[in-house]
Amino acid sequence: MTADTGPLPRRRTHAVAVGNVTIGGGAPIVVQSMTNTDTADVEATVAQVAALARAGSELVRVTVDRKDAAAAVPHIRDRLAARGVEVPLVGDFHYIGHKLLADYPACAEALAKYRINPGNVGFKDKRDQQFAMMIETAARLGKAVRIGVNWGSLDQELLTRLMDENAQRPAPKDARLVMYEAINQSALASAARAEEIGLAADRIVLSAKVSQVQDLIAVYRDLAARGNYALHLGLTEAGMGSKGIVASSAALAVLLQEGIGDTIRVSLTPDPGGDRAKEVIVAQEILQTMGLRTFLPIVTACPGCGRTTSTTFQELAREVEDMIRARMPQWRRDYPGIETLKLAVMGCIVNGPGESKHADIGISLPGTGEAPAAPVFIDGKKATTLRGPTLAADFAKMVEDYVAERFARNS
Ligand code: SF4
Repeated sequence: MTADTGPLPRRRTHAVAVGNVTIGGGAPIVVQSMTNTDTADVEATVAQVAALARAGSELVRVTVDRKDAAAAVPHIRDRLAARGVEVPLVGDFHYIGHKLLADYPACAEALAKYRINPGNVGFKDKRDQQFAMMIETAARLGKAVRIGVNWGSLDQELLTRLMDENAQRPAPKDARLVMYEAINQSALASAARAEEIGLAADRIVLSAKVSQVQDLIAVYRDLAARGNYALHLGLTEAGMGSKGIVASSAALAVLLQEGIGDTIRVSLTPDPGGDRAKEVIVAQEILQTMGLRTFLPIVTACPGCGRTTSTTFQELAREVEDMIRARMPQWRRDYPGIETLKLAVMGCIVNGPGESKHADIGISLPGTGEAPAAPVFIDGKKATTLRGPTLAADFAKMVEDYVAERFARNS
């Protein structure tokens, strides 16, 4: 599958088995995602889960919000299996999860993990009873549970009590700190309750999602210091486009650098008609650029500048990236270790030959005023010079040949 380079010290957590995937316990940090189809629409959901899995999502969460959705889950699981897609499914439950799990046992069985939001389970006695029903089902069926607190649906009784207690103090704390405490108390008390009911610690994953970077860092540092539960990291409602990517990267990078986090999701709001798999690619890129996991060959490309007045360089960099993503499913099967391949596509002679020599295979395109020739470097040595209209295709062929020769299975 993928290599785990993991040079950073990782916090010790329980290893939680979710289908054929392990979260925590020193396992490679798991990339997960969530569908945005109507789960009751089996065809659309199967197609999106398959696309997310193909992009590299190792767990896929689907919302299970009503009877039709719960009834659809086993069919989704079967159809995926028929297509050879084994990615574990996680069910996202709110308000009526206890009823859906009880009334649709095939759904409870088909899911590998249940996400339970303690703020949305019910009120007072009903909350405890409904939470217990879901936990008992998970324990009986050997399923993992994510206890996922979200500040948008925080347990209001708990928050009010902590705010009241804080107000009685001689020197009350900042309200934000009280909110952090409420989020983490909700997660930890729910986890302790789940253990009392009979769910082992190595079946529990915690998350405490907020939408601001500094809040997320503070909340997770505290949560990590208060237990050994495996942690799911993610900034909720990160936003659209570059804002969502930057905010998620900033928050996750700080925590991952501190060894906090066993699975991540990047919650991006897609553009209308946009590709849901973008969140998987961003999550992989965060882990790979931090040296925590290796998913895809890296393409080093310079940003371009006034020395590149044509678009040839940008086009070639894009074509190489696209080619790698398109070829990876087969390369992964045929060429063990392929994800460690390093390529370079550079814009001119200033840094082009130098950077290309550091790559396994690199090309230095001619900048403005340079002769129209592009030297290609393989393993640090100049291999050939490409020129003319077939340059992109010629370079792609050289990459294919290099991959076949260097990564072929020794059989
Ligand atoms: S390698 Fe050349 S084109 Fe690329 S940024 Fe540097 S000077 Fe500009």
